[in-house]
Amino acid sequence: MAARGQGQLQDFDFFVVVDFEATCVKDARIFPQEIIEFPAVLVDGATGRMESAFRRYVRPKHHPLLTQFCRELTGIRQEDVDGGVDLGEALWLHDDWLKEATAGAGNKRSVRLAVVTWGDWDCRTMLEFECRFKGIEKPSYFDQWINLRVPFQAAFGGGGRVNLQEAVRAAGLDWEGRLHCGLDDALNTARLLVAIMRRGVKITITGSLAPPLSAPILQQPQPHMSSYGGYSGTCLCYCGLANRGGVMQGKCFSGCANWGPAMGAQFGWSN
Ligand code: AMP
Ligand code: MG
Ligand code: MG
Repeated sequence: MAARGQGQLQDFDFFVVVDFEATCVKDARIFPQEIIEFPAVLVDGATGRMESAFRRYVRPKHHPLLTQFCRELTGIRQEDVDGGVDLGEALWLHDDWLKEATAGAGNKRSVRLAVVTWGDWDCRTMLEFECRFKGIEKPSYFDQWINLRVPFQAAFGGGGRVNLQEAVRAAGLDWEGRLHCGLDDALNTARLLVAIMRRGVKITITGSLAPPLSAPILQQPQPHMSSYGGYSGTCLCYCGLANRGGVMQGKCFSGCANWGPAMGAQFGWSN
């Protein structure tokens, strides 16, 4: 049975709002990019109440020293990541937190929850890429998500591509905290989610790692490619970046610019 949200019956008992921060450099790509902050905010699907928050800093393995640009962008200090956990542990800790925070949800055997992010990058690209690259298993609830941009447009309109801060303000809310601090981004995304729920919009899954039935069948995995194409049939290079020029007759045929033969040894399949 659907839960009565603020203004709309929602299909989920809880929304888990996530916003990853990752290693970065100015005006260039870093490879492999790694998650350095793993925050989540739990929102009750029936009441719109923020129930609990989670955060772990994550120690990057390949580029352990954060660039000055990254520290200034995210507000994350070198000592934060030096004292952080690895991604696998962060996923376990997050899962433990989630189980405990949702344990009081009646006497249901299973809780219906959905991950919410601003955009598709967090689940489709960043987490998926890093887990594949490092051979880390992640909970299946990260394999589908709600890109809040979609219900935001339904609730507040606006044709342009607004960023999270602009969207929060367009919803009549003040921005709280520091932009690009993962936990503050997640909290503001959660506040925006609640504002959208109050507008009477039904919040539904917008993205998934599973290709739709009509998607092209991609060829057997090559060392530099991922094994699925995403909704649009777009190839993803194993570096996690969309490889738009790489689909022909339903098959991936090339890696993206990040990949070169010399990097072959860095790639491998985790499944
Ligand atoms: P966000 O959730 O918008 O704070 O961004 C997530 C991640 O994207 C950041 O932790 C960075 O790794 C990357 N990122 C965001 N903005 C920039 C930028 N202007 N230049 C380089 N990387 C960025
Ligand atoms: Mg983000
Ligand atoms: Mg952020």
